[in-house]
Amino acid sequence: MSAADVLCPVRQAPAGYVADVDAYLGALAAAGGEFSTRHCAELDRAEAFPEQMCATLDALGVSAYYVPAQFGGALASYEDLVQLVRCVARRDLTVAVAHAKTFLGAAPVWVAGTPAQAVDLGCQIIGGARVSWALSEPAHGADLLASDVSARRGGGGYVIDGVKWPVNNATRGTHACLLARTDPAGGSRGFSLFLAEKASLSPGSYRNLPKARTHGIRGADISGIAFDGARLPESSLVAEPGSGIETVLLSLQLTRLMCAGLSLGAGEHALRLATEFAMTRMIQGRPLIDRPAIRAVLARSAALLLSAEAVTIVASRAVHALAGELSVISAVVKALLPTLIDGMIGELGELLGSRSFLDCEYADGAFAKLQRDHAIVAIFDGSTSVNRSSLIGQFPRLARGYAQRWHDEAGIARLAARPSAFDPRGLRLQSPGGCSIVQGLTAAADRVSGGHAASAAPGDGGACLGAAARSAAAAATDLHRRLAVVRPAARPAASAYSLAAEYELCFAAAACVQVWEAGHQAAAGSPLWSGALWARACLDELSARALHPGTGTYIGRLAPGEPGAATADQIADWLAGAVAAGAPITLRPALDHGRPS
Ligand SMILES: Cc1cc2nc3c(=O)[nH]c(=O)nc-3n(C[C@H](O)[C@H](O)[C@H](O)COP(=O)(O)OP(=O)(O)OC[C@H]3O[C@@H](n4cnc5c(N)ncnc54)[C@H](O)[C@@H]3O)c2cc1C
Repeated sequence: MSAADVLCPVRQAPAGYVADVDAYLGALAAAGGEFSTRHCAELDRAEAFPEQMCATLDALGVSAYYVPAQFGGALASYEDLVQLVRCVARRDLTVAVAHAKTFLGAAPVWVAGTPAQAVDLGCQIIGGARVSWALSEPAHGADLLASDVSARRGGGGYVIDGVKWPVNNATRGTHACLLARTDPAGGSRGFSLFLAEKASLSPGSYRNLPKARTHGIRGADISGIAFDGARLPESSLVAEPGSGIETVLLSLQLTRLMCAGLSLGAGEHALRLATEFAMTRMIQGRPLIDRPAIRAVLARSAALLLSAEAVTIVASRAVHALAGELSVISAVVKALLPTLIDGMIGELGELLGSRSFLDCEYADGAFAKLQRDHAIVAIFDGSTSVNRSSLIGQFPRLARGYAQRWHDEAGIARLAARPSAFDPRGLRLQSPGGCSIVQGLTAAADRVSGGHAASAAPGDGGACLGAAARSAAAAATDLHRRLAVVRPAARPAASAYSLAAEYELCFAAAACVQVWEAGHQAAAGSPLWSGALWARACLDELSARALHPGTGTYIGRLAPGEPGAATADQIADWLAGAVAAGAPITLRPALDHGRPS
């Protein structure tokens, strides 16, 4: 297959396009060139930008997926976008971060720009433009309301002064979407967003700041941009003056979902490396993977990865089906996934032993690299704490919605249908009714339980899943009682952050049940779905974590011989099979069939 065979995403069926890109990158890696662990390691050691790999993604037409279909691009389904990001990230996170950044920079224009602005930017992105998103400043990261960069009226437009740093692709970007203070007395309405085309700025009115050296994603262009009287035309303003903060908060609801692809890719890469190691490393004359304790570690990690995948599937479909609830859903995704995957990578690192630490001994040091690379995902685009803060602010609505058993049934049904066009006007700063996924968990658990008895006989997968879903619903009910008494506060108590972490796990359990319901009929016969294997393993793993909210530590419940060991064995067998075949570690294929229109 050549790049030309997968050149046109707009003319291909989306699922086919993602699979073709994945296969193409895989073939390049297998040939030992781009996307191979050796090539990526060499660039990382040299702290060199992955120029050629980004050019390959450009040649494959990946950038068209950063542009919504209504503005001339190929993005008709956010689920496909996240999958595409994952398929790059599962080979090299630095490349994924460097390339997909354009979606983050452009998102405010998709959300709040004029149609003409959006079509124009879309056309430029498909033609090769790269857009950075410049929010942070040296003295202010998360605290956007403290931003100092100013935009004052002048010269028939705006004059920009100040420094944005650190910013991904600030130097290499052709455009910067920046937040600036337009009215010093305007409070939260005193900021506006601008799309600056760097080539149109007069010489000397801006300069790129040097590349910052980083712990991970070492080759990425993490730099900055300093403005000194840079003149921007009126047409560079994105949405109304004063709407900058609101537009940023709404756009983050989309970009935080895209970050899920980064975590899923890194998690899958880590699990593949650890499984390959366990299959080939001989201890006392037997492969390491023959040991029950090692199988349990691999099975736990697989269950976490599949839980994260279920969350991502539901969340990315919610962009089309439950857009008004994304303030909750995107915060859950951005807080939960990097935390789960960082923890999982840590445990797999222990399994790899010295091979997780030695630079060149195993897979060109790819494990240590992905561990360093993934550490940034929990920090940028809103840290875990910032997202938990946002959830805490929504506790009263979540508690109320849960108590009223309200959920958008039509919206939930739309999750299983083909995506309708995304309408950004449906986004809300706070979800009015709470979260349908979590608030619908009790009803979903009842459906999944069907006529099964709550105390399931071992070996009856469907009944065991029903019992696990009911127990997750009971945990959710208990949690919402505790959420309901948390008083809104500018600086919430530490215990509120633990409740937010617990809420994320509830969401994950509910997402697993939703995905199971949506896919199990089409997936009948697949080993992973048979007897509800993956869904039981995920609920088991999530409930084990729920016992220790907020700590992120695993409590080791699945010891050999205890309940769960049989499930762990089956998951480990499935995992070893997927890794031996070089297949993606995913519950997807079954879901891709039979999605009604
Ligand atoms: C590799 C890299 C790439 C980056 N790319 C970009 C980019 O492209 N564009 C861009 O604009 N920025 C970018 N950043 C900056 C990044 O978004 C910020 O680092 C991040 O927002 C946190 O800001 P800070 O580090 O200044 O921490 P601070 O904002 O000073 O926060 C310090 C600590 O307080 C916590 N905290 C802050 N506010 C709250 C709150 N409300 N509730 C609870 N806890 C809180 C934070 O989680 C953190 O632990 C990048 C950073 C790095 C390292």
